[in-house]
Amino acid sequence: MSRFWSDFVHSLEPYVPGEQPRGHNLVKLNTNENPFGPSPKVLEAIRMATTERLRLYPVPDGGPLKQAIADYHNVPAESVFVGNGSDEVLAHVFNALFKHDKPVLFPDVTYSFYPVYCQLYEIESVLVPLNADFEIDITDYQRDNGGIILPNPNAPTGCLLSLDDIRRMVEMNRDSVVVIDEAYIDFGGETAIPLTQRFPNLLVTQTLSKSRSLAGMRIGFAIGHPELIEALVRVKDSFNSYPLDSLAIAAGVAAYQDEAYFKQCQQQVITEREWLTQSLQELGFEVLPSAANFVFTRHPQHDAATLAAGLRDKGVIVRHFKKPRIDQFLRISIGNHTENQLLMSQLDLLI
Ligand code: PMP
Repeated sequence: MSRFWSDFVHSLEPYVPGEQPRGHNLVKLNTNENPFGPSPKVLEAIRMATTERLRLYPVPDGGPLKQAIADYHNVPAESVFVGNGSDEVLAHVFNALFKHDKPVLFPDVTYSFYPVYCQLYEIESVLVPLNADFEIDITDYQRDNGGIILPNPNAPTGCLLSLDDIRRMVEMNRDSVVVIDEAYIDFGGETAIPLTQRFPNLLVTQTLSKSRSLAGMRIGFAIGHPELIEALVRVKDSFNSYPLDSLAIAAGVAAYQDEAYFKQCQQQVITEREWLTQSLQELGFEVLPSAANFVFTRHPQHDAATLAAGLRDKGVIVRHFKKPRIDQFLRISIGNHTENQLLMSQLDLLI
């Protein structure tokens, strides 16, 4: 390896994902997975695909899933790009759609993968601080830029921007691509996907990891103007022309065919989020308003790192970020009711 590449590679700071322990007795509330499993129809579709399709290569462009997503969101199939989890979709977005001669804007605080992609693809960035309430103020995104990306709801805060704000942000930045990462949109927000049909500079990404309970399958997608999608396809095909394996395609298609199950789990997560918010507040926690499947919370008298360690000792895992401005917060994924009760009883002992 030449010295240049060796220095570059060693300067990369990879994304550090949340802990993925395998113990059975752990209450795992640290990486925003869905506490309710995927639809039984999804499991059946995976079983069928296992017996019928593994011998064959998958459909090269994930065709049936692309079509299912297009039908569900009422957009043409050429507006849809699928990939191996939205993390991979986002990697292609940074590589293909953001200009390299101007800084990309994203919030400070937000999803910690964005700076990693900037480093990897040597893209300059400007981190735009959240306001005093930890919310995104769209008027801060008016400076010259090579692209904008933000999650809606934001992560790890859970705070939501209105569709009207998103539209104004897209209109204010017509010369660059605005990417809205809607990993958590199904838990209380309104998707910006319909706006992609009016604004050619808007791209929306989503994942099947959260509201569709398929984190282990790694399915994500982007919806936008066909020219943006074509750029993503060209970059992706240079890596791997099979975006998804046959099991993921079958599982994803089936997930969109079971709307009743989806709605039921969605409602259960929202109900549990309200219960957890209230219970935390009763213990003296401040909880940011969340439209996601997690809450971001701090206690005025108790150190967050100490609380996280105390919970860990009792087998309850939550996320604590050692980052300026948010190091007194805990991000807690919404579990099922038993898990949430267990969390609260352990917190009760620690407070
Ligand atoms: N965007 C945000 C804001 C996230 O929190 C996550 C999950 N860590 C992702 C994207 C990626 O999700 P996945 O790769 O599982 O689709």
